[in-house]
Amino acid sequence: MAGNSFFDVLVIGGGQAGIPLAHALAQKGKRVALAERENLGGSCVNFGCTPTKAAIASAKLAQMARRAREFGLRIPTVEVDFAAVIERARNLALASRRRLEEGFAGSDNPKLLRGQARLAGRAENAFRVAVGAETIIAGQVVLNTGTRSVIPEIEGLREIAFLDAGNWLKRTELPRHLAMIGGGAIGLEMAQFYRRMGSQVTVIESGDQLAGHEDRDVADALQSLLAAEGIAFRLGTSVKRIERREGGITLRLGGDGSAALDVSHVFVAAGRRPNTGDLGLETVGVAMSEHGIVEADERRATSVPGIWVAGDIRGGPQFTHTAWDDYRVLLSQIAGDGKRTTKRIVPYAIFTDPELGRVGLTESQARRGGHAVKIGRFAMKHNGKATEIGESEGFIKVVVDARSHALLGASVLAAEGAELVHCYIDAMNAGASYDVIADAIHIHPTLAEAVQSAVTAIA
Ligand SMILES: Cc1cc2nc3c(=O)[nH]c(=O)nc-3n(C[C@H](O)[C@H](O)[C@H](O)COP(=O)(O)OP(=O)(O)OC[C@H]3O[C@@H](n4cnc5c(N)ncnc54)[C@H](O)[C@@H]3O)c2cc1C
Repeated sequence: MAGNSFFDVLVIGGGQAGIPLAHALAQKGKRVALAERENLGGSCVNFGCTPTKAAIASAKLAQMARRAREFGLRIPTVEVDFAAVIERARNLALASRRRLEEGFAGSDNPKLLRGQARLAGRAENAFRVAVGAETIIAGQVVLNTGTRSVIPEIEGLREIAFLDAGNWLKRTELPRHLAMIGGGAIGLEMAQFYRRMGSQVTVIESGDQLAGHEDRDVADALQSLLAAEGIAFRLGTSVKRIERREGGITLRLGGDGSAALDVSHVFVAAGRRPNTGDLGLETVGVAMSEHGIVEADERRATSVPGIWVAGDIRGGPQFTHTAWDDYRVLLSQIAGDGKRTTKRIVPYAIFTDPELGRVGLTESQARRGGHAVKIGRFAMKHNGKATEIGESEGFIKVVVDARSHALLGASVLAAEGAELVHCYIDAMNAGASYDVIADAIHIHPTLAEAVQSAVTAIA
């Protein structure tokens, strides 16, 4: 079984866990291969985090330019060159992917194998895996194959050239009126992006609030801010049917499809589905949930010893930073002391403007969990720096345990909310009570003063 086709570890998928793990395991002396069927960097680099945040930066600049008069400046017209905005985002993604490719250039360990990987049963104490036309043998396998867009079964949807997270970066035509199907993180970020580029945008969400995991007051405030920019919302309704008509598309909404919405384009942001159906997991008996999530314990071990899982396909939070932390867990499990697990505090953000930075429990989760809850709330319009820079929208909401003074969670809907929330993240990781933040000195004038103001407002 020795030779060129044997590897101690095969990583399937060059996503946010797989690439650093392949390099780190090779440095630890393992013979490692990484199989990638498309582009190194996966969702985050090629069409997710990197290009969306680049595009959002263009949208922010356009918005600030439109507000120039408020700051005593004259920018007579703000013209959006949409193709150039997309090209900038594409180039940043490409540069990022190229850096990852350089990391494998001429490298025999870790070795990059190009092609679709599929498990093909066991080979003594190892696994047989087809990668493209080759078959290799791997002592251990790490699955990091990521997700793709859920495409809902809507009559007529597949007959139109809809946009989604996977293809938006290929489209250089600015939609006149975009229907966004889905009011979660991707839907909201992209809705605001297209709106600020100049599209009319309508968000359609089957739930009765946006960002369904958030507290109602936070979600409603975010909706109001987006509505103030001219984004329309249809909540509590879904798309029944899509019809093509002369010069556009008609969406039939509601249970009976009686309400009509005329648009020019449709963007589907209805969730993500694991890329696990074609991985051959059944050939070795890896357990999966009915939605294709690979079942794993807190070490990221699957039901089959020697097969591990990382990133979005293991269920739970689907973020780059959680995938990246899976790499640290797996490095510890495969080539370390085995102490690191996924017992961790997971923060995240919705990168609208203002951003929603989040960590820990929402108020409703904390109450359902039986905590004696106290809330601290602070409106950003009372923060000096926020008013000075003209970004005083939003508020901070801190959830604490009244008895222990433990920080349970925070929602920071504010300019730089995704940055500010790190004050709470670090305090929570340190096990510090909210008094630590209340007693600290924060620099004036900063947005971070509001982080402190919110805990001093706890009542
Ligand atoms: C539009 C969008 C915006 C996002 N923005 C953010 C953000 O701002 N912040 C954040 O934290 N997260 C964001 N995410 C989520 C983030 O991109 C993912 O959580 C992250 O990429 C982790 O993915 P992963 O490592 O599990 O897999 P991926 O990054 O998807 O990588 C999986 C890789 O596996 C390859 N592959 C799949 N099957 C096979 C096979 N059989 N053989 C070989 N290769 C295979 C794929 O080609 C892909 O390269 C965003 C996602 C999207 C879609």
